[in-house]
Amino acid sequence: NTNGGLSSVDVLIVGAGPAGLMAATWFARYGVNARIIDKRGTKIFNGQADGLQCRTLEIFDSFGFADRAWKESNHMLEICLWNPDEDGVLRRSDRIPDTIPGISRFQQVVLHQGRIERFFLDSLKEHSDIRIERGVLPQKLTFNQAASEDEDGYPIEVVLQHLTEYEINPEQSKATKGAATSDGLYRSNMAADDTEELLSKAIANSKAGSQETVRAKYMIGCDGAHSWTRKQLGFELEGEQTDYIWGVLDIIPITDFPDIRMRCAIHSASSGSVMVIPRENKLVRLYIQMTTTEKGDLPLDRKNITPQMILKCAQKTLAPYKLDYKYCDWWTAYQIGQRVGSNFSKDERIFLAGDAVHTHSPKAGQGMNVSMQDTFNLCWKISSVLNGNSERSILKTYQSERRKIAQDLIAFDHKFSRLFSGRPAKDVMDEAGISMVEFKSAFEKGNMFASGVAVDYGASVIVAKAGNAAEQEDGNDVEFESDACRVVGKQDLANNIKIGMRMPSFKVLNQSDARPWHFQEILRSNGKWRIVLFAGDVSKKEQMARVQKLGKSLAEPNSFINRFTPPGKPVDSVFELLTVHSAPRATTDLHDFPDILHPFSERDGWDYWKIYVDDESYHEGHGRAYEHYGVDSKKGCMVILRPDQYVSWLGNLEDVENMDSFFSGFMKVRN
Ligand code: FAD
Repeated sequence: NTNGGLSSVDVLIVGAGPAGLMAATWFARYGVNARIIDKRGTKIFNGQADGLQCRTLEIFDSFGFADRAWKESNHMLEICLWNPDEDGVLRRSDRIPDTIPGISRFQQVVLHQGRIERFFLDSLKEHSDIRIERGVLPQKLTFNQAASEDEDGYPIEVVLQHLTEYEINPEQSKATKGAATSDGLYRSNMAADDTEELLSKAIANSKAGSQETVRAKYMIGCDGAHSWTRKQLGFELEGEQTDYIWGVLDIIPITDFPDIRMRCAIHSASSGSVMVIPRENKLVRLYIQMTTTEKGDLPLDRKNITPQMILKCAQKTLAPYKLDYKYCDWWTAYQIGQRVGSNFSKDERIFLAGDAVHTHSPKAGQGMNVSMQDTFNLCWKISSVLNGNSERSILKTYQSERRKIAQDLIAFDHKFSRLFSGRPAKDVMDEAGISMVEFKSAFEKGNMFASGVAVDYGASVIVAKAGNAAEQEDGNDVEFESDACRVVGKQDLANNIKIGMRMPSFKVLNQSDARPWHFQEILRSNGKWRIVLFAGDVSKKEQMARVQKLGKSLAEPNSFINRFTPPGKPVDSVFELLTVHSAPRATTDLHDFPDILHPFSERDGWDYWKIYVDDESYHEGHGRAYEHYGVDSKKGCMVILRPDQYVSWLGNLEDVENMDSFFSGFMKVRN
């Protein structure tokens, strides 16, 4: 092996699955010096995860590529529940909407992971020099704990092994070898971890690639369920592994089952359950239970599982309907386990995200979504510490916010899996069976959870609400030394803008050109904090006076905006002020508002994209944003949004000092 020498990087990401790619995407937007490595030689081309919840689409849109997913994907509108009737014959018992109407401007869609990874790769190319370094895996990790609080230090040292072409091509299973179909067994959680094998092969191979040593300020282990990073840190996954084994088939079905283009949950009387997920390109994914008890009664070895076996199980469940196929795109087998990591970070320097810290069944379509949302939560925080805007204290909120989500997810999956895998009750006296009424209600409740919009972060330095994070993190010691979390926002000023949750979206018009926008469309993921001023009815003198006074105090040389914005940078580089007023558009003028709300620059003149109005549009109706947000249309209010669109604080137009205390809790004075 040749020694590739020593280099430094601000962040090293291990693993280029959904979690790692989302991390790299944030770093690309902030211009952070980051590297991302993956042991595999190629990206995924088909199969694997496929469900995108509406919150994930909102996030994709904030990065500018939701439209690609929206166009290419299959949209899921309805769920059909199929159960045996009194005579044991399969029949449709219910239809429910797949996404609860009104919760998001997007609905749940399905598209295979390979395409989703492609969108990320294209976006990285467009915005940065960050490229996935494939066939590279870490061999040794050294962490200098004593230097973990040294802001300029590189406490992490990782030896990287570069693999050759020969070493990185995974073996396909016997059933697939030589066939056109690819299988996902080598990536399945039932496959043995091959990290050690790859490493030893590389070292033994005389033609092996080089080694290098990288020093890093931060490291993120996005290296999946077998996480090497987690093992180096000695962190455990807590929870249980069940013996339910599920087969997954991506086929173009030939069938007389009428609801094959709907998402279906099918419980047969005694031949197991099938979940139908209609997909893009005429494909349908079938999740099929292969074992009937929680402690498997079949000596199933993954090596023995074939697509034909999985199909046979599905045919039994679907009888009397017929099911067959000529084309199979991908297949795998999956074992359900519900586990959460005890720790999501080592001294807020090395972080774990995605499957590396939580695993669960694939049926609720959550893994990829929650994994991406982990690093969506983490990486703007790391970036703002690296660029000098924030104190390291905000990094603690990664674990306090995301571990709770992982625990909720596991609890949900635990309940849902058992309901799904169990045999349906024959009647109300059948205690061993699963009540279909309970199943339907779990499905409906699950839908809200599964949409991703129900996420509600607890109190912390960056979420100004009552309570403290330590109380919400059971058993984990998350204390904030800062006084700033004593700032509590005024929730009653906007009933539907919940502190801790993502900002909902309603249509508003641009004051300057009358174009309608969904408010979320304006909230790009560009690293800026946002102060949204609901300016109220500015046609009334007293209200406009309040707005003018606010503008004056925000523009003071000693205002938090000026203190926390680096000298020489545009006034909106750290904080973006967005105004939505409720006076009639036609009789209001951009220049009625204080300059700071639509700042002037030498090069570009006035900024016409900061002031919006809640009014009737020419072609898209009236968004009624004030009414939907629950904001008083005369008096308005102010909202602080984090760079990830979650609500931090609510207050009145006079609460500038309170807002100042909030930001002073974690931001660094730059000016
Ligand atoms: P992974 O996707 O596992 O990515 C980890 C990456 O790290 C890989 O690229 C791997 O090569 C690399 N790596 C691992 N070890 C090392 C190492 N030592 N060095 C360097 N690189 C390394 N989720 C959903 O949201 N919706 C669904 O519909 C859904 N369906 C699924 C269906 C199936 C059949 C399966 C198997 C999973 C499904 N999931 C679904 C789950 C989803 O695939 C995972 O939750 C998601 O991929 C996790 O993303 P991740 O980035 O954390 O990890």
